[in-house]
Amino acid sequence: MPVLSYIHQLFDAEHCQAYIHTLRWKDRPLQCPRGQSQDVGPWGTYHYRPGCKRYWCNGCQRTFNDLTHTLLHQSRRSCAYWMLATFLLCLSCSSRRIARELGVHSRTSYRWCWWLRNTAVSYETDRRLEGTVEADDLYHTAGRKGQAQGGGKKSLGRRTRGRRKKREPGRGHYDKDRPAIIAWVSRQGAVVIQATRDFTVKTVQTAANIAVQVGSRLYTDSASSYRAAKDYVHEYVNHTQKEYARGDVHENRAECLFSLLKPYPRVFRGASKCNLPGYVGFFQFLRNFRQRNAFEQAETDLTGGVRPSDCTQS
Ligand SMILES: [Zn+2]
Repeated sequence: MPVLSYIHQLFDAEHCQAYIHTLRWKDRPLQCPRGQSQDVGPWGTYHYRPGCKRYWCNGCQRTFNDLTHTLLHQSRRSCAYWMLATFLLCLSCSSRRIARELGVHSRTSYRWCWWLRNTAVSYETDRRLEGTVEADDLYHTAGRKGQAQGGGKKSLGRRTRGRRKKREPGRGHYDKDRPAIIAWVSRQGAVVIQATRDFTVKTVQTAANIAVQVGSRLYTDSASSYRAAKDYVHEYVNHTQKEYARGDVHENRAECLFSLLKPYPRVFRGASKCNLPGYVGFFQFLRNFRQRNAFEQAETDLTGGVRPSDCTQS
């Protein structure tokens, strides 16, 4: 048995609680999470949660603590588990890996991972690019992982989950288990990545209106769906004629982003097509906060987790 089994055993519980308290209440007064009343006072502590302070609200005549109405609320694991899980998630670990490193059940870490991913994605929902924006698309093989049903050709007792489906020629489609991913990359650095059902003119127009300010310059390849997009100043390079850059017009940043995006979901060993937008959205969060290291990204994510109303600011 090694001396150090789990690193979170070295964490001091009171320090962790104080850290969460700081994340939640820095630059704002302590207030009741139910009625926003600031008429509150201390109300003891918890014997099973060292460092967690309890408060009494005179407004609603109830108690609350630093974790009320946050992701960590009523979690039986201490804050150290959560902080380490968020850190590992920002290092692109899979939920099974996190379960192993933390010593929790894989279903616990799976649930945490999705809560934390959704929190991170809420930072990104309002992001719109402007200026010069490059766009490109790819098709990601994603089946029905985790949703096996009865039946099938072989006597598996269930249908295959399609985690590693062979790619079919031609454009992908959600119904063919190859949904499209469209990336919009601003020359200023910000990115927006969308997982869509298909790559039709209508889809691309809607996706562009969500991701890019009207009137921006759009540089793409020669796909007809981009050429039909309205409201933008559009120029494209023709890859079929081996034209990859024409002066300022190229989409090499978008191609570069895909070279980073493609290996990212590999650690999950296949994804369900329902979960693909979540993975892609979290990758967008990591990419847009790439100037910060994983600890700082984890802190941003955790801040969103303990201050749900603040996510869209920043
Ligand atoms: Zn209250």
